[in-house]
Amino acid sequence: MSEALAALEQTAVIARDLIRFDTTNFGEGRSAGEAEAADYVARALRDLGLRPETIESEPGRTSVVARVAGRNRDKPALVVHGHLDVVPADPANWSVDPFGGVIKDDALWGRGAVDMKNMDAMMLTALQDVIERQGAPERDLVIAFFADEEAGGVLGAQHVVTTRPDLFDGATEAISEVGGYSVTLGGTRAYLLQTGEKALLWLRLHATGVAAHGSHRVFDNAVTKVAAAVARIGSRDWPVRMSPTTTAMIDAIAQVLGVDPEQAGPDAIALATGSASRFITAALHTTSNPTVLRAGYKQNVIPDSAEALIDIRCLPGDEAYVLAEVRELAGPDVTVEVVLQDIGLEQPTDGALVTAMTSALQRHDPGAPVLPYLLSGGTDNKALSRLGIAGYGFVPMLLPETIDFPALFHGVDERIPLSALAFGRSVLADLLAEY
Ligand SMILES: [Zn+2]
Repeated sequence: MSEALAALEQTAVIARDLIRFDTTNFGEGRSAGEAEAADYVARALRDLGLRPETIESEPGRTSVVARVAGRNRDKPALVVHGHLDVVPADPANWSVDPFGGVIKDDALWGRGAVDMKNMDAMMLTALQDVIERQGAPERDLVIAFFADEEAGGVLGAQHVVTTRPDLFDGATEAISEVGGYSVTLGGTRAYLLQTGEKALLWLRLHATGVAAHGSHRVFDNAVTKVAAAVARIGSRDWPVRMSPTTTAMIDAIAQVLGVDPEQAGPDAIALATGSASRFITAALHTTSNPTVLRAGYKQNVIPDSAEALIDIRCLPGDEAYVLAEVRELAGPDVTVEVVLQDIGLEQPTDGALVTAMTSALQRHDPGAPVLPYLLSGGTDNKALSRLGIAGYGFVPMLLPETIDFPALFHGVDERIPLSALAFGRSVLADLLAEY
């Protein structure tokens, strides 16, 4: 082992080990499974003196939950959760093996490096630090590693919440992915704390037509119908819709940028946030992206059926109007089926947990503003909200200004600086020790 690897910080070691388990979730029920990664984290939890439970929704689809007794049993429990699955990675597009756990250029490369084996590892090392430092965290913790998040959590968080709600007894709040990372706003380093997430509508478009020879004059063509609907839905430029969370977000960003939010307008403020604008602009508008097209089997045969999958994210409460408009855009020849629908969330942008997360960050990065934001995607916090648990996104990471962090989510050459892993461990340990 080289000296550099021998000195590799423990969070990086665990994240690297987890990346090397291929836990690809292809969606629509197809998955490599999480069993090996679940065994690994369960072992790590047992090494900390805990008694993790494993919950299998289907063979190989394993979640792991452990409770850590806090020193102040009067406080409600905090859920700290991560998911073990990852989205697919095509090695042909990557400059390294996506499941190799490569350490290069002071970063850990691989599928899951930011989404979210980084946090899975931070959870374990931060907990270890807290136990070593003071024997126990301040309050009870429910440490959860879920399966199937990338397919909406049906076989992971949703299954655990439905079949084992007892595991979350006394928990009122949760922290998990896609928040707590640094962005650069007009030259100022700030942190985006996720205090809400958009609702999710996954739709399947389907059309039928006449099966015929590819040389015939056919207008009742299933492919043409679905393609036309896909083009209309995919190019819909949805207007700005504000919510309490996005209003607080835009006001806070405007303050850091030193502009008047009324005068500049939300879109201009979002665009001024550099690489973070990919997340911020998506929070302001409904998005309706076609993601899968399926039809046909031979170039000279017109198939009698065609389908497309559409990924829609909208503000909580906008689902009905968005769905109605999408049905209209799809037109009378195309059926629109809701494959999966899940709620959006908006949590208070102040309060004791927000204050604690902010001060834990600022202890390690003094003076940096911490702003609320609405996540354009979704997390397992949706499932936990069914138990009345208010979930936030808090994976504390100080990132170099040059990194296009939002692009790394589900992106090619996903990677995380080793320094960000160590930073996250320290901030998270402080939070769990004191909150
Ligand atoms: Zn994720």
